[in-house]
Amino acid sequence: MSAKPAVTLPILPGATLGILGGGQLGRLFTLAARSMGYKVIVLDPDAASPAGQMADVHLQADYSDRTALQQLGAACAAVTTEFENVPAASLVELARHCRVSPDASAVTIVQDRSHEKSWLRDKGFATAPFALIDNEDALVAALATTGTPALLKVSRLGYDGKGQARVDTLDAARAAFREFGGQPCVLEGFVNLQCEVSVVLARNDAGECVLFPLAENRHVNGILDISIVPARVSEQLAEKARTMAREVAHQLGYVGILAVEFFVAGDRLLVNEIAPRPHNSGHFTLDACVTDQFEQQVRALVGLPLGESRLMSPVAMVNILGDRWHNGGPHWATLLAHPNIKLHLYGKEAARPGRKMGHFNVLDADPAAALALAEQMRDAL
Ligand code: AMP
Repeated sequence: MSAKPAVTLPILPGATLGILGGGQLGRLFTLAARSMGYKVIVLDPDAASPAGQMADVHLQADYSDRTALQQLGAACAAVTTEFENVPAASLVELARHCRVSPDASAVTIVQDRSHEKSWLRDKGFATAPFALIDNEDALVAALATTGTPALLKVSRLGYDGKGQARVDTLDAARAAFREFGGQPCVLEGFVNLQCEVSVVLARNDAGECVLFPLAENRHVNGILDISIVPARVSEQLAEKARTMAREVAHQLGYVGILAVEFFVAGDRLLVNEIAPRPHNSGHFTLDACVTDQFEQQVRALVGLPLGESRLMSPVAMVNILGDRWHNGGPHWATLLAHPNIKLHLYGKEAARPGRKMGHFNVLDADPAAALALAEQMRDAL
């Protein structure tokens, strides 16, 4: 094959960018890139993918389809991803043709919960107590250490509470492990957490980092329900979270957008998860920050200076799940009657329970008012 052409940075508008994955994160990246004047090619096997609908070209193929990857790499100046489960080999293949960020090494660590947790421990980041499980004997031994309740989580491909079980007894733990087909898992001690926060950041080739404001995240059934920004934590704790997030990115040698989720337990901060992409808890940036996380993803990818991340207004972000469609659909008119609410829908046709269909941001100079209206609208929708 021909040698990879040298890329001159920054890659400017008019060039073509690629994204692996056509979900809502890919869609919002596509919209940001197109509005900045880039062309976008989305690779996703789903004919009706939310990002494919917005792209210049939708390559409908598997993520490991070599021909499609070569086509994508040849047509694009740079390629990024919207999800961590992209095969690392695909990123390696693409990197032979064009600029790729994040790179395969970082994605390989974070796409497997066992690797991710071990990596965090080895680098000295605090996490919930955990043990790697690949057989029932290991499960018995681990449970004796973590105690109950504990959480059993599959190492690969779990998301939004899927592939996770809270276990209160050894029998329940065994049953959950069998239900997961005996695949590698992580057993985590249950953390008595006060709240959860996350930091979304961008890091460029020079190692410069721009962090978005901390989000305070509330989950329901393992799925993000509301993000509140600014997070209601002390400045000391916020600073600690920012420092840890920056250090995670640095240790990964990361280029692109990275999200770090934390548990707050007393004055301790435990890293829960790392995502090598924009994050649901960063959707508030779409309406509340000078630069949003998707424009920032474009900027990091093309080698432009990173944008300013300043918060322009307190905000509460609410996820809209497919559950809302059960009774004739959400009451959009009620929601849109508010001049300070910004609605984002992802163009998904099938509204299944638990499926993320969209979100809305409530902006208000008074953070308590933003949260109150967000909760009111969530319940009224
Ligand atoms: P995860 O997919 O691992 O981020 O888990 C989804 C949600 O479940 C988290 O955001 C927490 O609300 C909760 N959770 C996960 N692990 C733990 C834990 N070890 N202790 C307490 N809550 C947890």
